[in-house]
Amino acid sequence: MKLEVLGCGGGVGQGQRTTSFLIDELILLDAGSGVGELSITQLEAIDHVFLTHAHLDHTAFLPFLLDTVLGRRQAPVVVHALAETIAVLKAHIFNWQVWPDFNQIPSLEHPLLQYAPLVVGETVNVGKTRITALPARHSVPALGYLIEGEGGGIAFSGDTTHNDAFWHALNQVQNLQHLIIETAFSNADIELAKLSCHLCPSLLLKGLDLLQSRPRVWITHLKPGEADSIMNDIEQLQHPLAPQALQHGQTITL
Ligand SMILES: [Zn+2]
Ligand SMILES: [Zn+2]
Repeated sequence: MKLEVLGCGGGVGQGQRTTSFLIDELILLDAGSGVGELSITQLEAIDHVFLTHAHLDHTAFLPFLLDTVLGRRQAPVVVHALAETIAVLKAHIFNWQVWPDFNQIPSLEHPLLQYAPLVVGETVNVGKTRITALPARHSVPALGYLIEGEGGGIAFSGDTTHNDAFWHALNQVQNLQHLIIETAFSNADIELAKLSCHLCPSLLLKGLDLLQSRPRVWITHLKPGEADSIMNDIEQLQHPLAPQALQHGQTITL
C-alpha cells in the first residue's frame, strides 16, 4: 500500500495545500486543494473518495475533480462519507447553483457521482485494502479513517479534538504502522483549539498517553504561519513516539 500526501496544510499560501491523500492511485482520502497536484490521467483513475467531513479545506476540490473526469470514465466516482456530510454536499455544493449535481449527470441512471453513506465502525473493502470509519469529535459531524493492507495499517484522525473513543479504536488495531493526526494549533491557542474542536500539542499528548501501540506519528493540518511554534511545542513534550511534521509530497509505503 502506498499513501501519497497531496496536501496536509491547515490552509493555503506559500505553496501549502489542504488535506488530501492518494492511496494506491485509486482511493482519495479527503479532497482539499492538494487534489490540484494530480494529472488528468491520475484524476481519471480515482474510483473512491472517502471524506472525513464537509468543511471546505477537505472537500473544495471534489467539484473540480468530477468536472475534469466527466466523459473520461465509465464507472462512477463513489463518495463515502457520513450521511450528515452527504446531506451538506447535496444542499450546499452539488445544488445546481454552486456547482452542477453530478449525482444526476450525465444521466439519473448512470451518474458520475455516487454517494455511499458510512457509519462509525463500518469497513469498506476496495480490492485488498480495508477502509474503516473511526470516531472523531469536531465542530461538525466527522470521521477519521483506518486504512489496512497486507503490510499493516495507517490511521488518519481527520479534524478532531481530544476524543477517547478514537484512541480506544486505535488500541483495537492489530498492526498499526502509522498514525497521521492533526494538531492545528499551538498550546498558546488551546482555548481556540477547544472551541473549534481541533487539537493542540497538550491535547495531543493526552491521546498519545492512551495509545498502547507504537506507530510512527505524523502531524498534519498545521495552521499556516504557526508550524514552527506547534512543532516546537510538540518537541517539548519529549514523547517517546517523537511525532514529526507530515510533508507535502511525502509517500508512506507499507
Ligand atoms: Zn474541519
Ligand atoms: Zn480542516
